[in-house]
Amino acid sequence: MKLATVVVASRNPGKVEEFRRLLAPFGWRLLALDEAPQGSATSWEEDRETYLGNALVKAVAAATSTRLPAIGDDSGVEVAALGGWPGLHTARWLGDGATAAQLREGLQRRVADLPEARRQAAFVCALALAIPTAGGALKTLTSEARVDGSLLAMPRGRAGFGYDPIFVPAGETRTMAELDPEEKDFHSHRGRAVRQLLRSLEAAAP
Ligand code: IMP
Repeated sequence: MKLATVVVASRNPGKVEEFRRLLAPFGWRLLALDEAPQGSATSWEEDRETYLGNALVKAVAAATSTRLPAIGDDSGVEVAALGGWPGLHTARWLGDGATAAQLREGLQRRVADLPEARRQAAFVCALALAIPTAGGALKTLTSEARVDGSLLAMPRGRAGFGYDPIFVPAGETRTMAELDPEEKDFHSHRGRAVRQLLRSLEAAAP
């Protein structure tokens, strides 16, 4: 199945930029929510108990309001020594108004309390595509991927967004924020989930 214009069901500019980078080479034109018809009015409750559930909520909300195909992303960081915390709550564990810098600094403080050998973590990304069909229903496709790594108590690098300056993917010595964008996409949870989604789309009936 081929897609052309797709709405990114996210108000995170870092995610929008990554989807553009990952999907433009496949001929997709990615619109931020505010660039899509009725997109600004789109809202959703991120209240599901899985990343996939939340990714679907976002994609379905954006596809329903814009009547364009939409991609939803729900992601998080899981610290093994903290039982997978903050996980689903990665964007909100400091309360609704917290900035990305405050969230990262808060996690740095938690990491600093752990011995270096116990700082293993993973980034997880679930994606959902919701595609309006001729009959007015929505066809959905999903994918989910993770990247293992470890966290630092002090940030390094300026690229990327969110927790990138404190996440070192397994097999690397640099943080996600020290990698070139293409290197981040090669390693990242989002890059892997996008490649998986493209394979499902390729296999889907037109
Ligand atoms: P949500 O998917 O909107 O619930 O938010 C995910 C949270 O994880 C936000 O705090 C993001 O900044 C963070 N996050 C998601 N993906 C990445 C990434 O690729 N790098 C760094 N932080 C990320």
